[in-house]
Amino acid sequence: MTENFQAHEIRDVIRINYKYTMGGQSKFFKELIKSKRLLGTKCSNCGKVWMPPRINCSDCYVPAEWIEVKKTGIIEVSTIVWFTTSAFIKNIPYAVGYIKLEGADTAILQGIFSENLVPSKIKKGKRVRAVFQKEREGKMTDFFFVPEDEYENWINKPEYEGGE
Ligand SMILES: [Zn+2]
Repeated sequence: MTENFQAHEIRDVIRINYKYTMGGQSKFFKELIKSKRLLGTKCSNCGKVWMPPRINCSDCYVPAEWIEVKKTGIIEVSTIVWFTTSAFIKNIPYAVGYIKLEGADTAILQGIFSENLVPSKIKKGKRVRAVFQKEREGKMTDFFFVPEDEYENWINKPEYEGGE
């Protein structure tokens, strides 16, 4: 392409009806709706606790069993999101991060919301706690994490609740 090249772009909307199966991980989402429990899986051979859950241990290739992990954890890495899809535009800026929940050996990628989103709030090592949508649909957006010192403020908002 030459340096003066300019592509012709057309903005449009595509609507698609589809069904997406969570397969063997369905239990994670069903428990999320029903009881706000965060379920990982524990390898029956090496004992590694996977969160997000894996049906088979990725290290040993043997079946893993369901196990509940805590709703609190530590940020391992994070970033602030300024550009996103239409589904999340109302939330920007927000953070996403890999969070290692207590009782898990791996980290889960999830949204981190803060009432005062500055980099120091979402630094590596900061403690976060899960907040749940009151209206849950069995999706990853049914919960998100907040800095532990903001937890009470978030669960007192009408659309959210704590996981206890
Ligand atoms: Zn294993």
